Amino acid sequence: MLQFKLVLLGDSSVGKSSIVHRFVKDSFDEYRESTIGAAFLSQTIKLSEEYDEQVLKFEIWDTAGQERYKSLAPMYYRNANAALVVYDVTEPDSLPKAKLWVDELKEKVNDDKLIICLVGNKLDLVSERESTSLVDEADAREFAQENNLLFHQVSAKTGENVIKVFQDIGERLYLQN
Ligand code: GDP
Repeated sequence: MLQFKLVLLGDSSVGKSSIVHRFVKDSFDEYRESTIGAAFLSQTIKLSEEYDEQVLKFEIWDTAGQERYKSLAPMYYRNANAALVVYDVTEPDSLPKAKLWVDELKEKVNDDKLIICLVGNKLDLVSERESTSLVDEADAREFAQENNLLFHQVSAKTGENVIKVFQDIGERLYLQN
């Protein structure tokens, strides 16, 4: 079976652990304790017929976003095949933080095959917020395009688009291996 290492990066509370739990356990827990250091989980997916119904295994490292753990991140992204850089669509400050992670990955990871996906989470909250307090989707999309990143908006809470992120990454990884 093809196996790939995937790391999650992003500000604390953007929903990194919730995305992983939705993907791995198909569940959402409003009150789960925050990750200390990093957590490891794995999950397999099957690609579509177009991709030979290939089964892939993701080994997922969910890193803690707190500033005091920032120095540990290179340990997790150094050997990664893919990175999910997550921001919170209801937290405008979280997009610039995500951009910094992307810059760091581009600078420090010496692998032009690294797949990076920019992910805007908490899409379920968009309809109830004023658009002025939301991240500008066009801004995020443009940044993704300029930097050759995959881009998705998801909700770990409802599950919307979460599988798509991993399918999309899996297809890219399969094609380049
Ligand atoms: P992390 O620190 O980036 O791992 O973030 P967590 O996964 O711990 O989530 C932080 C908070 O945001 C928690 O209270 C979650 O319940 C909440 N949360 C995460 N994802 C979503 C989502 O898609 N929608 C909503 N409404 N809340 C979310």
